Order: sequence, then structure tokens, then C-alpha cells
Amino acid sequence: MPFVTSATVPGKEYDVIVVGSGAAGGQTAYTLAMDGATVLMLEAGRNYVPEQETPMFQTHDQAPLRGTSTPEKPFGFHDATVDGGWQVPGEPYVNTSQEESGRFDWWRSRMLGGRTNHWGRYSFRNGPYDFKPHARDGLGFDWPLSYEELATYYDKVEMLIGVYGANDGLENTPNSSPGCLLPPPKPRVSDLLVAQRAKKLGIPVVAGHRAVLTQVLDHKNSPPKLHPGNSSAQQIIAKHMQSRAACFWATPCGRGCSIGANYQSTTVHLPPALATGKLDILVQAMVREVTLGKNGLASGVSYFDKTTGKSSHAAARVIVLAASSCETVRILLNSSSPRFAHGLANSSGNVGRYLMDTVGSSVQGQVPLLESLPPHNEDGASGGHMYSPWWLYKEQLAGQLGFARGYHIEFGGGRNMPSLGTAAGIEWLTGGSYGRQFKEDARRYYGSFIGFDGRGEMIPNEHSYCEIDPGVKDRWGIPVLRFHWKWSDHETRQAAHMQKTFAQIIEAMGGRVKGEVLTDGARAIAAGGSIIHEVGGTIMGTDARHSVTNSWGQTWDVKNLFITDGAVFPSNADKNPTLTIMALAWRAADRILDLMRRKEL
Ligand SMILES: Cc1cc2nc3c(=O)[nH]c(=O)nc-3n(C[C@H](O)[C@H](O)[C@H](O)COP(=O)(O)OP(=O)(O)OC[C@H]3O[C@@H](n4cnc5c(N)ncnc54)[C@H](O)[C@@H]3O)c2cc1C
Ligand code: SF4
Repeated sequence: MPFVTSATVPGKEYDVIVVGSGAAGGQTAYTLAMDGATVLMLEAGRNYVPEQETPMFQTHDQAPLRGTSTPEKPFGFHDATVDGGWQVPGEPYVNTSQEESGRFDWWRSRMLGGRTNHWGRYSFRNGPYDFKPHARDGLGFDWPLSYEELATYYDKVEMLIGVYGANDGLENTPNSSPGCLLPPPKPRVSDLLVAQRAKKLGIPVVAGHRAVLTQVLDHKNSPPKLHPGNSSAQQIIAKHMQSRAACFWATPCGRGCSIGANYQSTTVHLPPALATGKLDILVQAMVREVTLGKNGLASGVSYFDKTTGKSSHAAARVIVLAASSCETVRILLNSSSPRFAHGLANSSGNVGRYLMDTVGSSVQGQVPLLESLPPHNEDGASGGHMYSPWWLYKEQLAGQLGFARGYHIEFGGGRNMPSLGTAAGIEWLTGGSYGRQFKEDARRYYGSFIGFDGRGEMIPNEHSYCEIDPGVKDRWGIPVLRFHWKWSDHETRQAAHMQKTFAQIIEAMGGRVKGEVLTDGARAIAAGGSIIHEVGGTIMGTDARHSVTNSWGQTWDVKNLFITDGAVFPSNADKNPTLTIMALAWRAADRILDLMRRKEL
């Protein structure tokens, strides 16, 4: 089924155009196509076939420079990103400040499936507080929907993509409905030690939640819950679920997974959507703008066909932007017309505003208790098997912490496949050793390191936004984004708190911190955008004056124009955003289907 060309597109009539094929575009197209809507997906990158292209079993010595990271491949040679990174050739962006504190780093993946081919797969639900943060502490914005309104969509997404985890019943850390989560993998040795010692500090350590199949999906019971009353969709997804194998605990998920054991849009959303016969995909199609008809409705999109070098147009009843938060903003701002001189759907002036990332800060340590362990395989499900949800809600609400929002802790240690950097820098422990002694030291310390990454909530502010740069254009002549960025004290203090906490855990494990524990949060915080959880830019809300869309991602100004990526987030909870993006996208697609059935679109 069809990967189409721009020569065939104009002759077909589509119900919906979806721009982008990552988590947002994949989920939107899946839901629409499974329910019978005809969909054209436009993707700026090339086709990508994980079953054929994933270098799952290559060892580091089979790669240039033993697979280490380079500017072209920041996550190493074997990383799944085939066209993309912090810089994409011919597609610049501009920062108004080069200072670490005022910079926004923008990661883009130009390929079918976008960033989902190599994301970390951490999949947490936002909790009830996360949808009403302003009501709780007076800062930022509330969402125009509650946790309860999204809960069934979280259930569906977890059942469809496969997420391991456990229901721990902790504050603001919702349980999933029965049958949604897969069993978590066994903790690693270092996980058990972290859990034991963190508990003494009052920090909970529970099963991680990641989109990895620890067992084959329930292809008998889940399909009727995913698509009630739709037997054709049930059959398609039941068959597809059986084609996905369970994880065999051996290869780095960042390279992708050729057996479909983790979530990638290319292995999970797109194959069943294509199997409906309702989805056409046009790759190498760089969308420039959404076009507006005389009736004030979106009529289609104009795009640059990278294979022919020509501009083209595609038309549909409904247009969905799912190009990733900042790209969606860029498309809207570049879609100006006499009616929308400052960008489409921008009567509020808020398109580009309230850009957010996740607060990040890291501390590494070495733990003598983990030295010289007997050889054993700890590869596991590639990423974290356990994590710590935020635990200081009461203290924070009582104003005892000096910052308003929380963070969770992702941590990792263990004996992963050795690489070029495995024993690099151990002179901070050995004092410098050579020859036989160095080999003995490398064996002794291998697997005894532990790293903690904080992932915290950023509060939206007026100083963090993007707009169109008046001068710079990309290689197709499309104007590019210019970023403005500023952290508030809430974020920098939170980063300093992370540093202190991680050092305490390492010390409680009897370990030593590597390097300095940063007490200055401005130094401790990672650059804006660098955690790659950017959201906001077209925030949803309850009215057209203060927000760009309603709770279904439908723009207030143009009723047949929807946004289903992270741009609509009015806050960015500490929980990594992708599961919520997918839950919102499913809900938005259901709304589109409903409005189309009622002939309101
Ligand atoms: C290394 C890494 C680790 C991550 N780890 C996690 C994690 O553990 N948990 C988590 O929740 N999130 C994680 N993320 C973030 C996650 O990948 C994103 O939140 C998610 O992919 C967003 O989905 P999206 O569909 O909005 O964007 P993307 O996945 O980026 O997809 C957007 C697609 O749109 C296409 N596109 C862009 N512009 C245009 C245009 N003009 N015309 C046509 N097509 C266009 C792009 O080429 C791309 O394919 C991680 C990201 C990275 C890079
Ligand atoms: S660890 Fe499991 S899910 Fe990840 S790539 Fe390997 S087999 Fe696939």
C-alpha cells in the first residue's frame, strides 16, 4: 500500500492531510485510517524501513571510530537517526543568544517516523495535578481538560504501543487500567542498590515505564478495547500485534528495533494504518504552508517535493499539523495571508509563545560495592528498568523548596556492551595506570558507575519563544525560526536541588561523585532544548484570546485546522511528553471523525 508521489496526489481527494509521521502524526493517521477516513501523510524525510535498516547486531568495532559520537551522529554511528541531529544541513535556525543560558538547541529527525525511531521510550502519564498546575500554585496555565478526560486515551495508547511498568499508587502518578501495562523487567544489580539506599533518604524507587514489549501484546483482549464495534480495525491490529516480538534484552533501543519490540511509529502506527488501505504516505515532502480558501477554511498545504525540486499542493477537508512542536509553529507563521498577516491561526498572537523544554541536570558516580562483580548480562531492556517519581509534593506546596514544580529521576548503571569510552577517564579513580595494571583497573571498575538524570517541569514564560527570522531561509527558500530562551529561578533552583539529591544518593550507596556537585543552578541546568522534550508554541486553552487551540487541538481561528503534536501543551510536566502527545492525538482524531460524521467539517 501506497507510498505515493506528488504526481498522483492531485488526482485524489482526501479527508485529512497529516503533516509529519512521528509520534503525533503516526497516532493521528492510525486513528483516522482505522476508522475509515482517507488520509494523506506528508513527511519531509525519506522512507525508513526498520526491518531492513536497523543495525541491531553490529558491534562497536564494526563502525568507524568504534561507533563513538561525532557531530554528524551525536548518539553514535549506529543510532537510528539517518537524516537529522542538532544541525540539519541546509536547514538552519537562529538563536538570539549564544550564551548557554539563553540558547535553544533544536533536534530534528528528517525520516519516516521522526524521532520515534530512536527516542528513549520513557512513557509516563501526566497526573491530575499536571493538568491543573495554575490552580495548584498560581503559576503558568491550566489545561482545558482534566486527567480523567484523557485517562481512557492513555489506556488505549499503552495497550496499542506496549508499555512496561507497574501501578504503584503514588501521588500524581496515575495507575493504568488493568491489562494496559506489561510486566516490568527485573531490576539490575545497581537498581536494587539505588532502591535500597534511596529509600533511606525517603526517595521512592519503582518500576520504570518504557515502550518496550517485555512480552507479546495481548492480541485477543486488547483489539476490542482499542476499536469497539470496528471488526475490521480489530482484525488488522490483532494481526499486527502478533507480528511484534517480545524484547530479547540484548541490543540498544536507540538504534531502533527490527523485531518491533519497542515503539517506533514506523513499526507500530504506520503498518496497520497502511493495511487499512486508507493511508497514503508521501515522503520527501517539505511542507511550507497551510493554504486558506476563500471560505476561511484551510484548503490544503503547499510543499516542496525534494525528489523533483518542485513546489506542489495537496488538498483535503481537514488539515492536521503534527510536524513536531517548533516545526508546526514555523509552518503556521509562514502561512500568512491578508486575513492572518502574522501567521495562520494567530489572532491571539500566541503562535510561537510559551515554548518549553524539560529541566535536565546530571550527576555521575562510582560505587565500590559494584566493583569486580562476577560477569553477567545486564543489557536488559536497553534503558531504565526503574525510576523515581517526584516525591516532595507536600513540601513543595508548602513553599519549603524554593521552586514550584517537581522532577523525576532516571538512572542507570550496569555492565552494558563495552564501547570506546568504557574505561576512558578512569584516572580519577586510579591516579593513572598503564599496561597490565590498566587492564586490571578497567575490569575492576567496569560496571561500577552509576548516573542520575533529573527530568523536571519548566514553567512557561514570556521570554522563551520562537518567531520567523526576517533574513535567514533554508535551502528551499522557506524562512527559518529564531529562538529566544530564558530559564526562571524555578528551573535553576530545581536543577541545583537535583545535583544535591543525586550526590546524596551516591553517597548513601557508599560511592563517590565524579566531578563537582554544582550548587549554582544556572550552571547545573542543561541548555534549553537539549533534553529534546520541546513543547508549547500553540498552547491549548479555554478561549481564543489567550490560546491557539481548544482541548482537541482544533485551532480557534480555522475550524478545519488541527494540531496534534506537543505544540498544544500549556505546561510541560516532569513526565516525558510523548505518551501524552499520543493520547491527545488519539482524542483529537476521534473528535475529527466525529465532526466529519456530523458534517461539521
Ligand atoms: C534522543 C532522544 C530521546 C528521547 N527520549 C524520549 C523519552 O524517553 N520519552 C519521551 O517521552 N520523549 C523522548 N524524546 C522526545 C520524543 O522523541 C518526541 O517527544 C516525539 O518524537 C515527538 O513526536 P512528534 O511527532 O511531535 O515529532 P517527531 O517525532 O520529531 O516527528 C515529526 C516528523 O515531522 C516531520 N516534519 C517536520 N517538519 C516537516 C515539514 N515542514 N513538512 C513535512 N514533514 C515535516 C519530521 O521530519 C518528522 O518525521 C526523545 C527524543 C530524542 C531525540
Ligand atoms: S532491547 Fe529489546 S526492544 Fe530494545 S532494540 Fe533490543 S530487542 Fe528491541
